[in-house]
Amino acid sequence: MQLTRRSFLKLTGATAAAATLASVGLNKASASTIDPLRIKYTKEYTTICTFCGVGCGVVCHVRDGVIVNAEGDPDHPINEGTLCSKGSSHYNISYIYDEKGKPKPNPNRLTHVLYRAPGSSSYEEKDWDWALDTIARRIKDTRDQNYVESVNVDGRQVTVNRTEAISWLGSAFCTDEENYLFHKMARAMGVINIDHCARL
Ligand code: SF4
Repeated sequence: MQLTRRSFLKLTGATAAAATLASVGLNKASASTIDPLRIKYTKEYTTICTFCGVGCGVVCHVRDGVIVNAEGDPDHPINEGTLCSKGSSHYNISYIYDEKGKPKPNPNRLTHVLYRAPGSSSYEEKDWDWALDTIARRIKDTRDQNYVESVNVDGRQVTVNRTEAISWLGSAFCTDEENYLFHKMARAMGVINIDHCARL
């Protein structure tokens, strides 16, 4: 089949229209399987998109402890109800649809710790207690072994109380408040290499 620019636009336009209809439960194939009132009897919770540093607001609809829908928060000053394609897929972090259009837990969701030891080419499963203890121990050891109380500047000892052996990276997955606390914690440990993934 030869694909001209015109036929490509027609095809993608039809696909987009079908996707829009499907998202509101109006396409013929799914009309009988998707709940037309997906957010009925749900409670709304607002949160921040976890995917990038723009920080769009998201409204999550929860029924019986399960997220059944997620969409842009119209009251949020950043996105005013819109979401990009990544943000629009929030619901699929937890659930995907089976062949009958029913939601089922996303089998690709990572719910446990995977650890790759130095030099190893494979991951092994660990529990959260092990991960937190190991991270804390390594931070403490690295700080203690590389802590500098003062440096000589032009023949004069200047107190610095710092370590340059640790870098601290904030995350767009965290709220402002969490990143504020992370920053305070890093400073309290003497970490001076502090940065954030958001480059916007
Ligand atoms: S990934 Fe998209 S929806 Fe999420 S914060 Fe970034 S721009 Fe907003």
